Amino acid sequence: MKILVINCGSSSLKFQLIDSETEKVLGKGICERIGIDGRIVFTPGDGDKITNDTAIPDHNRAIELVIEALTNKETGVIGSLDEIGAVGHRIVHGGEKFTKSVVIDEDVIKAIEEVSDLAPLHNPANLIGIRACQKAMPGVPMVAVFDTAFHQTMPEEAYLYGIPYTLYEKYKIRRYGFHGTSHSYVSKRAAEMLGKDYSELKTIVCHLGNGASVSAVKNGKCVDTSMGLTPLEGLIMGTRSGDIDPSVVEFIMKKEGCDVAGAENLLNKKSGVYGLSGDVSSDFRDLEDGYNNGDEGCIRAINTFCYRVSKYIGAYAAAMDGVDCICFTAGVGENGPLVRSIICEKLGFLGVKLDKEANEVHGKDKEVSTPDSKVKVLVVPTNEELAIARDTNELCK
Ligand code: ADP
Repeated sequence: MKILVINCGSSSLKFQLIDSETEKVLGKGICERIGIDGRIVFTPGDGDKITNDTAIPDHNRAIELVIEALTNKETGVIGSLDEIGAVGHRIVHGGEKFTKSVVIDEDVIKAIEEVSDLAPLHNPANLIGIRACQKAMPGVPMVAVFDTAFHQTMPEEAYLYGIPYTLYEKYKIRRYGFHGTSHSYVSKRAAEMLGKDYSELKTIVCHLGNGASVSAVKNGKCVDTSMGLTPLEGLIMGTRSGDIDPSVVEFIMKKEGCDVAGAENLLNKKSGVYGLSGDVSSDFRDLEDGYNNGDEGCIRAINTFCYRVSKYIGAYAAAMDGVDCICFTAGVGENGPLVRSIICEKLGFLGVKLDKEANEVHGKDKEVSTPDSKVKVLVVPTNEELAIARDTNELCK
């Protein structure tokens, strides 16, 4: 079956068409600047990128353009729309309602709407994507795959905050965690790579991209993760602060003369390694260049970022009473030997020994610890689209 995977944001829509039997990507692309001006970039199979600047006033038009790109007589990859057997949608927040992927019906749409106040920027955009696909492809089964679902196995002690319990009961304020599709995919893949049983392994997954999070996966179940009610908590990220004292918000507001929205903007968009570097960049390639050239801001940003990751790894080793395997994934995790080596240098107490030569790997599955390392260290490229396609196939075949 050919499965269309949709990741719909407020002004962009990413898509991939995946053959569920071969798991090959038949075509992929992105519609950008929806509601502003508009551009679609499409890459057919192994072909070259095709860019088309064209008006995209709304998501309905974006979906029409996706279909046009996929079925184009010269550069398309399918003969007609009928070839698309199912659509998988990435949904950011499933609250406590969704513990796994589900086939979309009106009740599911309503339930996604109900948890939208937990992700006001993301869930409404995801829903627009679902509606636009339903309009363009009536009758085609669709599946919702949630970023939060994998983390729903966390025990109460891991997901509760130390605030009045009534606030949890009334408003469901708690840790949810994100990047769940990636943490699930990578932890399973790690078990395969090690030839071990997933249900008998203690794994820590470090998803280090522009957004970054760590998870502790014990015996096949997530038991803790670093992102919280929103994706702002936990690690230091590209432009997000991660953990801070909540009082910092009011302090910033007073000192900088801004309102809550201003302080939130600062913590989401101007912080992280970008802010720490002295506004050099949020891109780790630039930061690594600066680090290697002795730039103080870049050294500070990378060291502080790595320190926070190693601290979480230590905490999660304690949470699981041990750790068998540490995985690095996403843009920086897959392509950043420097970051991996700084983090692992601090983990000698766990028995982690990095193989310097193997650690030079970029974007490929690889064991990067030495044979005598007590804890295995793996680089595992994530593939959230494939994970979404697999769930969709499972529910629709
Ligand atoms: P997101 O999906 O959250 O936008 P990604 O997983 O794509 O993020 O990761 C983006 C980050 O990965 C950027 O900071 C980028 O610099 C980094 N990255 C990508 N390639 C490399 C590389 N070769 N070396 C170091 N960092 C890299």
